[in-house]
Amino acid sequence: MDHNFKELDVIRAGASNGDRTILRIVPRHAPVIHAISVPRVGFSYTGPTWAYIFENEGLTLIDSGEFGSFHELDEGLSQAGFRASDIQRVIITHGHEDHDGSVAELVDATGAEVWAHEIYYHLQEYDPRTIFRAAASPLQEEFNRLSELRDAFPAPTEQRERYIHARQGLTIHHPIRPNEQVGDMTLIHAPGHSPDELCMKVGDVVFTGDHVLPEISPHPTMKAAFPDEIRAKLPQQYQAEDDWYGLATYLKSLKIVSDMGGDTQVLPAHRYFNRDKFNFINGTRARDIIEHHGERLGQVLDTVGSRAIGLEDLTRQIFSHRTLEGTNFRAAMAETVAHVELLEDSGDLEVSDRPEVRCTGSNNYRQFIHQLIG
Ligand SMILES: [Zn+2]
Ligand SMILES: [Zn+2]
Repeated sequence: MDHNFKELDVIRAGASNGDRTILRIVPRHAPVIHAISVPRVGFSYTGPTWAYIFENEGLTLIDSGEFGSFHELDEGLSQAGFRASDIQRVIITHGHEDHDGSVAELVDATGAEVWAHEIYYHLQEYDPRTIFRAAASPLQEEFNRLSELRDAFPAPTEQRERYIHARQGLTIHHPIRPNEQVGDMTLIHAPGHSPDELCMKVGDVVFTGDHVLPEISPHPTMKAAFPDEIRAKLPQQYQAEDDWYGLATYLKSLKIVSDMGGDTQVLPAHRYFNRDKFNFINGTRARDIIEHHGERLGQVLDTVGSRAIGLEDLTRQIFSHRTLEGTNFRAAMAETVAHVELLEDSGDLEVSDRPEVRCTGSNNYRQFIHQLIG
């Protein structure tokens, strides 16, 4: 797919995976945008985090990169002709380490304001893993048990501890409410990959964070159940977890970008450049991701077939083309759980207390998705 910008110049060519690439983009109906690819601290399958900077009621930066990578962003900004101290605000697309990790350092160096969704603000003091480990169902208890058994929980690292500490201490100057407007930019809540995920639409461009990516389909969350102590502190309007977590939630948020159509250029947080080529995408990419999940749901039903099957067997059969070990196994299992949960909601699967998954004989999921998103 080609891009539909007025101009796109490579200010600095980077590595084959995009590391340290700097672009100057002139959209047809939006201000000039500089894209700076911030390398990851260690190896990452998803590759560098793309940060974007443009003028909109003050110099606005979207995402800053992983904890420990601020020097990379800082250097990229000066190569692109900016002074970090001129940044008015940084907007966090969502609370994952490769997006908000270096925000604290950025604020120390620049005094920029920090903007993030209200849910981010309310949950920032908790490690996101605390919420996911509070199992929301017997299937998720099994997910935790198998993760433990197969040594698939990520090992605690000092990098991670320092990140969580920095995130807890971060002042959010502007907790964003749904559909807020700032200058020419609309801030859209798009939960599913993360409960606090934001998309920013400016003219004919949308910044999607990890909500819509080229090449890879972002991980949907599993459903969640807030632990009591977290729930007690959350405002009433955020207490219904199903509104912020799970595959059905993710599909609804994909519909928002899909509706923007082919005329809206998507600027994603990863994989914009990879294996020596650009991956230009537009709103239709969200439709492709919806379709991918539709196919995966059918595949899960077919794989369960006419027997009762446990979570590990089901996961290994669905992902039989991959080597599933450690955190890869856990990620594949999470993907499986997210799909089984939607198929329970559509009435096509049931999960026993053992827990084992079995088909009910119905095939409602396409209809269910249609009702969800049309
Ligand atoms: Zn993410
Ligand atoms: Zn990411």
